[in-house]
Amino acid sequence: PVVTRIAPSPTGYMHIGTARTALFNWLFARRHGGQFLLRIEDTDRARSTPEATAAILRGFEWLGLDYDGEAVSQFARRDRHAEVARAMLAGGTAYKCFSTQEEIAAFRETAKAEGRSTLFLSPWRDAAEASHPDAPYAIRLKAPRDGQTVIADRVQGDVTIRNATLDDMILLRSDGTPTYMLAVVVDDHDMGVTHVIRGDDHLNNAARQIHVYQAMGWEVPVWAHIPLIHGPDGKKLSKRHGATGVEEYAAMGYPAAAMRNYLARLGWSHGDDELFDDAQARAWFDLDGIGKSPARLDFKKLDSVSSWHIARMDDTELLAEIARFRALTGQAPLSQAQHDGLLAAMYCLKDRARTLPDLLEKAQFIMTDRPIERDERSQAALTDVSRGILSELTTQLQNGSWSRDTLEATLTTAAEAHGLKFGQLAQPLRAALAGRTATPSVYDMMLVIGRDETIARLTEAAA
Ligand code: GLU
Repeated sequence: PVVTRIAPSPTGYMHIGTARTALFNWLFARRHGGQFLLRIEDTDRARSTPEATAAILRGFEWLGLDYDGEAVSQFARRDRHAEVARAMLAGGTAYKCFSTQEEIAAFRETAKAEGRSTLFLSPWRDAAEASHPDAPYAIRLKAPRDGQTVIADRVQGDVTIRNATLDDMILLRSDGTPTYMLAVVVDDHDMGVTHVIRGDDHLNNAARQIHVYQAMGWEVPVWAHIPLIHGPDGKKLSKRHGATGVEEYAAMGYPAAAMRNYLARLGWSHGDDELFDDAQARAWFDLDGIGKSPARLDFKKLDSVSSWHIARMDDTELLAEIARFRALTGQAPLSQAQHDGLLAAMYCLKDRARTLPDLLEKAQFIMTDRPIERDERSQAALTDVSRGILSELTTQLQNGSWSRDTLEATLTTAAEAHGLKFGQLAQPLRAALAGRTATPSVYDMMLVIGRDETIARLTEAAA
């Protein structure tokens, strides 16, 4: 069975790189009917905060990446990590090192001054028990000195590291706290993780981690180190490129489904498929499709992926996403009338909206009540002449069926009577009905709000 995990460090906001890595792990697990686990790597007490953990959990919730079981706290497992360090000590694959911080720092300084390698090799590696002082010690891994370690990576290929370039890393510090490098291996083993899919900034760590697996006689997981996300200019992604936090994207009003699609394509491909839903992504996702070079963030592409999803999402799903977006951005919940209006109008709002606020802008004729608040352009469209025409229309629209055909006939006739092109009549109508000039077609608006409300709005605008 496949078991994957995402192991974020709770030291800030949730980065979209973390979201992308999580998504890959989630897709891979779901594709194989396996499990996707969440572990909060809060071992570094100085840098970990509960707020950051909360942000990560919110990020998962928003993105819709459901993990199996409870989120695991790495810090809570520290006794288990220490136990493994001691087991390695007992098994001879680790040793007590009594070198102090000062001694190590002094060694490095001298080595540097003399132009020698600063790689610290502990003098205690082969010291007999009898020579041990009664002093605090760290537990170090007795790593192989000769030969090489091969990371058989599913993305990077075989990556070979010469063991002579690695020191004996600390597993348990002299204060009894485990190091991150030990904790990650123990946790992955205990949680039954079969595939470690993570950023390639961890590639070098893998060699050292393999040594811990080998020392414990544990099975090494399948590695897949994915290239980091770059900005549109090909440089490492940073704030200056734009939004890097998952919550920023949520606040901009991209639907989570669109974000999943977009992030999936950031470093992974399936032929020429750019636009797809979760079911397709789950059916297609494989490690072979992960590229070796960094993917570039492309905001235009995100917009087009997003429009595609908005246009094809079903109406109730879209409404739920809108409600969520409003709550997230501190806007009032939808009233029943707004909810019903949006649902009735969704057919003419969904197309060509890049984001949820984009869609809501087009839905202004539903979102506002009389008196209609008008933007500058629609105010300008309400000239004396156009007011007069609107006033005439309030009478002409009293009778006849309230259908697209009848409305079309009435409005076309009115335009002709005044020697106007239809577009010239449509502007004041938009202003009257929505207070905006970017709206769905006037027919759609009239059909959605109905005869009485249409006449009331035209009357108001004509006054
Ligand atoms: N906690 C590490 C990070 O946030 C992830 C380590 C891993 O995936 O093995 O970068």
